[in-house]
Amino acid sequence: MIPAVLPTYSRAKMTFEKGEGSWLIDRDGTRYLDLGAGIAVASLGHAHPELAKVLSEQATQLWHTSNLYHIPKQEELAEKLREATFADTMFFTNSGVEAMECALKMARKYWYEKGQPERTNIITFKGSFHGRSLGTISAAASEKLTKGFGPLLPGFISLEFGDHDALRAAMDDTVAAVVIEPVQGEGGILPLPDSCLKGLRDLCDETGVLMICDEIQCGVGRTGKFFAHEWAGIAPDIMAIAKGIGNGFPLGACLATEDAASGMTAGTHGSTYGGNPLACAVGSAVVDLINTPEFLGDVNRKAGFLRQKLEGLVAAHPDVFETVRGTGLMIGLKCKMANSDVINACYDEHLLTIPGGDNVIRILPALTISEAELGDAVTRLETAAKKLEAGG
Ligand SMILES: *Cc1c(COP(=O)(O)O)cnc(C)c1O
Repeated sequence: MIPAVLPTYSRAKMTFEKGEGSWLIDRDGTRYLDLGAGIAVASLGHAHPELAKVLSEQATQLWHTSNLYHIPKQEELAEKLREATFADTMFFTNSGVEAMECALKMARKYWYEKGQPERTNIITFKGSFHGRSLGTISAAASEKLTKGFGPLLPGFISLEFGDHDALRAAMDDTVAAVVIEPVQGEGGILPLPDSCLKGLRDLCDETGVLMICDEIQCGVGRTGKFFAHEWAGIAPDIMAIAKGIGNGFPLGACLATEDAASGMTAGTHGSTYGGNPLACAVGSAVVDLINTPEFLGDVNRKAGFLRQKLEGLVAAHPDVFETVRGTGLMIGLKCKMANSDVINACYDEHLLTIPGGDNVIRILPALTISEAELGDAVTRLETAAKKLEAGG
């Protein structure tokens, strides 16, 4: 009989009942060191005391009104994000995919309102991931996401990640926008070099094509800047965020410049829950906690420490690991053996990592993880690697 929960996930066997910082505790009280943080979501760790307080205080006041009325917490979060980013305005959602849908609609509406309604194509890159809606699977265009779900949405042009000539050739006057993850996440932790991001920005400036950054995974402090595109010294026109901004409370947003957002007038887009008081109370506290020079400096320091340790690990276990890549606390270990075998061996050491494309295991810890915990994690990875070598 089909399970009561639609079986679209292949789940590991653990069942967790409690979280504390970088630790998840299962039914039997066994503690697992969490290097996944709920897929780069719990960036301030599980059950962060200040966020728990903010959420429960809001829960005693008001949960939900819908966007028929003003939501002060939403306006407060918007002001904070506006202050901290390139954006002039933003639309709040409950998830990453909804933030991406808003970004795609916004880009098409922009050209419609500018009197070029035929300018609808959107350029995307191979290996990218933008969510699971029909629009975003059509955007990412990989067979893994789209097979059996056709007909797909027309108007997407999929190019090789980093193929500059193909990109330049494709940027004609049918193109509304280009969508890029500054660091591909699901694709296997592939950072786009700063020079490529700058080149893309220049091309967009030359052609008028809108630049959309998908920072749903790499944003909100993950790479050691508040947003990953900041490393390249550029700004997009539109940006989708989610994951880390809610630390586990469902929250996303589509941020934009005033010009890029100019088509999105009253009645053109909406969401019942998007930006509700509970979500925005948490999001606002997350911004306060993460977007400080001290916090981000600490992320960079720990990232350097982890990177060095992982380089050593990879060098010491060439039959298990091939390379380490990524940026900040967004790291991929490309495996020699099947990544699922490595992940299972880590489970045996009570260490949680996440599979990614290109046979990678992803390391996306809470940004609050301590250096001691990172050292502990690498020791567990080492033990797992030794057992895999002995078993193989
Ligand atoms: C997770 C993710 C999404 C989709 O977010 P959901 O909240 O699962 O809808 C989109 N883009 C990127 C880069 C992601 O990592």
